[in-house]
Amino acid sequence: MCGIAGIYSHKSVANELYESVVHLQHRGTDAAGIMTYDDRMHKEKGMGLARDIFTQDNLSLLTGNIGISHNRYPTHGGFGHGEVQPVWTSVPYGIAIAHNGQITNYDELVEEVTKTEKRYLNTTSDTEVILHVFAEELNKNGNPETSEEFFDVLCDVVSTLFKKVRGAYSITALIVGKGLVVFRDPRGIRPLVRGERDNGNDGKDYIFASENTMFYSMGYESKGNVLPGELIFVDNEGKLFSKRLVKEEFNPCIFEYVYFARPDALLNDVGVYRSRLRMGQNLAFAWLDKYPDIKPDIVIPAPSTANTSALAFAHEIGVRYSEGLYKNPFVGRTFIMSGQEERKRSVRHKLVPQDTEIQDKKVLIVDDSIVRGNTSREIVRMVKDCGAKEVYFVSACPPIQHPCYYGVDMPTSEELIASKKTVDSIKEMLGVDILMYQDIDDLVEAVTRIGDHHIDNPCMACLDGHYVINGRKVHERIKD
Ligand code: SF4
Repeated sequence: MCGIAGIYSHKSVANELYESVVHLQHRGTDAAGIMTYDDRMHKEKGMGLARDIFTQDNLSLLTGNIGISHNRYPTHGGFGHGEVQPVWTSVPYGIAIAHNGQITNYDELVEEVTKTEKRYLNTTSDTEVILHVFAEELNKNGNPETSEEFFDVLCDVVSTLFKKVRGAYSITALIVGKGLVVFRDPRGIRPLVRGERDNGNDGKDYIFASENTMFYSMGYESKGNVLPGELIFVDNEGKLFSKRLVKEEFNPCIFEYVYFARPDALLNDVGVYRSRLRMGQNLAFAWLDKYPDIKPDIVIPAPSTANTSALAFAHEIGVRYSEGLYKNPFVGRTFIMSGQEERKRSVRHKLVPQDTEIQDKKVLIVDDSIVRGNTSREIVRMVKDCGAKEVYFVSACPPIQHPCYYGVDMPTSEELIASKKTVDSIKEMLGVDILMYQDIDDLVEAVTRIGDHHIDNPCMACLDGHYVINGRKVHERIKD
């Protein structure tokens, strides 16, 4: 999972791209980068958090009113500086791209790019492959002069790319001398939203980003989504061209709503906060059905993604909601930290149980999901150490049984606790008195109940094993 943004503005974009990276920080803390251009490209990128990479001094060197940014959370490729996006190539024109997603035919495309087209790949990142497929197609398509001619060429280029590149990819790109290019894979697996702002001179500024979380503070108005299979081009003068090149089944990732997206985001016309409230509500209805005689004394969220679902859950079952685990906001998200030991250690650095809320109580913990199980087990241990009488654990997400090949770090079945163990044995492993998961249908209902959306068939491959790209088989793992 990553965060991307692209901005065309009437003024310098560097500070606004920095703000975008900060507002998308939850989508990747591994690295970040910004590229802009005026008469030439300017870039700044590095490892770690945005606030540690960018300074007023280095941002002042990123001149130009068109640019793109990236927050990195690696799912494909190594961890080196060379993999930090945006990545760029000088031929043709000078192209830089930022990518959110993961492609599933990486090996095949590497063969084509390096052997057939004799291009050099400097990293193992799938983004670099997409860049060269795009660049090669653009290079073959003559020398268009006007923006209209260039957009026609882009339509051909991206149509071909859609046929060649399989998997999940939302892309922002800049092309020197031409403008800003944005497209989203035909299944729309990863999100990409758009916004506009009057620039005060009868023109418009445009922003495209993984989430609309920065629109409010930057004065942009939400204008919906980049559609699956859609191409958008904003030329150097701010003229916008768009076309939906292909229409396939829409399969947005359901896990965005469970975990990744910020609660204030509106993705695919569904509010993430409201969908999490509904997840908690459906979970509560299932609890009341299954355990009508068991009432906890308090409901505690595993902070902080689960706060919203826990709030609704507590309300529906008529039990006090308590923030019985304090979360230190200055420690990174455990799920996107690399290394199992690091993740385990960080749980106790990050969460502190409050005796007054837990001791001698029947505690029900709501978590957003159980991926590997180690974080959940640590949380249960902490609550028990604090003197809880009984501990119940409910997950807003159904059992995650299969790896994700579309941009979320669920690398192997072996690491997914629900792929090998039954609910009863997970309950034993966690050491809880009751373990209950959300039902798949209830999760889908929670995401799709309200909103002017078109989500008929979200991707849930990690839950049900049905891979939406070309019938990909469950255990057909691509090489990292
Ligand atoms: Fe999202 Fe799961 Fe599909 Fe991956 S497999 S895109 S995490 S729903």
